[in-house]
Amino acid sequence: MEYREFVEVYENLGKTTKRLEKVDILAEFLERIKKKGEKEWVYLLSGRVFPNYEPREFGISRQLAIKAIAFSFGINEADVIKRFKKIGDLGEIAEEFALRKKQMPLVKGKLSVGKVFDNLRKITEIEGKGAVDRKLDLVKELLGYASGREAKYIVRTLLSDLRIGVADGVLRDAIAKAFLKNEERASEKIEEAYDLAVDWAIVFDAASKGVKELEEIEIVPGKPMNVMLAIKAKDIAEGFEICGGGKVGIEIKYDGFRMLINKTKDGEISLFTRRLENVTRQFPDVVDVVKRHVKGESFILDSEVVGYDAKTKKYKPFEAISQRIKRKYEIEELEKKLPVEVNIFDILYYNGKSVMKESFRERRKIVEKIVDSVEFKIKVAEQIVTDREEEAMKFYDRALKVGEEGIMIKNLNAEYKPGRRVGYMAKLKPETKDFDLVIVGAEYGTGKRGGLLTSYILACDDEGRLVEVGKVSSGLKEKESEGMTFEEMTKLLKPLIIEEKGNVVKVKPKIVVSVTYQNIQKSPSYSSGYALRFPRITRYRPDKSIEEITSLDEVEREAKKERK
Ligand code: ATP
Repeated sequence: MEYREFVEVYENLGKTTKRLEKVDILAEFLERIKKKGEKEWVYLLSGRVFPNYEPREFGISRQLAIKAIAFSFGINEADVIKRFKKIGDLGEIAEEFALRKKQMPLVKGKLSVGKVFDNLRKITEIEGKGAVDRKLDLVKELLGYASGREAKYIVRTLLSDLRIGVADGVLRDAIAKAFLKNEERASEKIEEAYDLAVDWAIVFDAASKGVKELEEIEIVPGKPMNVMLAIKAKDIAEGFEICGGGKVGIEIKYDGFRMLINKTKDGEISLFTRRLENVTRQFPDVVDVVKRHVKGESFILDSEVVGYDAKTKKYKPFEAISQRIKRKYEIEELEKKLPVEVNIFDILYYNGKSVMKESFRERRKIVEKIVDSVEFKIKVAEQIVTDREEEAMKFYDRALKVGEEGIMIKNLNAEYKPGRRVGYMAKLKPETKDFDLVIVGAEYGTGKRGGLLTSYILACDDEGRLVEVGKVSSGLKEKESEGMTFEEMTKLLKPLIIEEKGNVVKVKPKIVVSVTYQNIQKSPSYSSGYALRFPRITRYRPDKSIEEITSLDEVEREAKKERK
């Protein structure tokens, strides 16, 4: 298949903002990929060459892309930069230069998808000495063959900025439309399969063969998967109601981060976060504890990992251990400074088979059987079973008194449903007004804070599109010991900068923060139509992905509540 066909689809997708039209365009194209392509090529539709969970990146910064364009078309970097300052899209600039280039008619338009895909993958694999030059060679090779438009999308892909508006939801609906034509709940079935496989190539391939193949997708230890999420309850009574009434399981809501603990039948242990990141290397202590204190030939356990102070044995808030998730070096030192305790609350796979369809009551029995609790290392999450609200209330009060975040209320008869807030599990915590928002832009500070990005433009999700809801500059700290600092945030944001004008930058939407505020106002200054007043960052959320941020609907709902 020629890369030209992909490029036509990118162009058509970019031309419409209508979701249904995008779904149609993609559905038609997926059928073509099925006939004459490779399943992995679906990654290219989201500008990738690996599944979403795979952290490998192209490692092509804007500066390097400028170099690559200059190098490929034999022009001065200064000329590329000049055009870039004017247009702001290196993809379009590559297109311009590719069109100007004199090409051998023989070579033109002969770029295959396979070639593009291979070179892109190779680019992600190059490391070490001379890496930059070897990457440049691979880019040059592609751009050398590319037509104008092909050059545009190659460069945009390398910069992870395709600008065609294809979110996972659109891809899901397109696969459903293409291959599950006469099925009820087609999109839901695709989503269920995706939650298990978390890999669009696997889901696309199975769906293209039929619904039976799709339903045969199963979890396997050693690979990431989506976890089950909870619904927020406003009080105990609602918590019971969400979980179907009668007897429910009530547990502490530990303030740590979610971890899926996997053991394959070969005895290999791997750890994944709820964002599907493999954090095995960062937590050798957890691997060790699991090896010693959990029985079973193979399993997938669901847990919350909480940090505590090594000396005082006091539990620490989530921010403290978020350092451990990020840390790639000097792991041992941090392991001593910030030890963790693993609280196991569920099991999804045990001794060679999935136990997701068994009731929570049964799953919990397995957990109790195989986990050998050792204080401050690993334990089965504390649980009471009750049908009495007063008893639940007592448990809740006690949890808050000892400084826990709240409680989880769980349906004992329910299966495990990954990914969605299905109502098998509710969370209850004291009312806080906060949203999870993604940073899409920032401004440099002045004076003492010169050179640091100190105020951040926030966005929520409007059906796959990001819309701005205000700007926040408070909540971060001056000192590292007090929490997330401006320096740290600047370090996170700088590599994500995609545009710079004066002291304002636009960044790739990756960094999610929880933000509290005083109230919400209608405002024409932001694209959502709303602005948060007196916003303050309460937490950096490396555990949340951009798919999980607050929706515009929720913002609207809260704004309406205030007006009542
Ligand atoms: P929040 O923002 O309130 O922390 P969330 O959006 O991160 O919630 P939810 O799924 O809505 O995530 O809330 C449940 C989270 O609470 C789980 O993802 C898990 O990380 C954590 N948790 C702590 N203790 C438990 C427990 N005993 N059972 C299940 N989840 C628990």
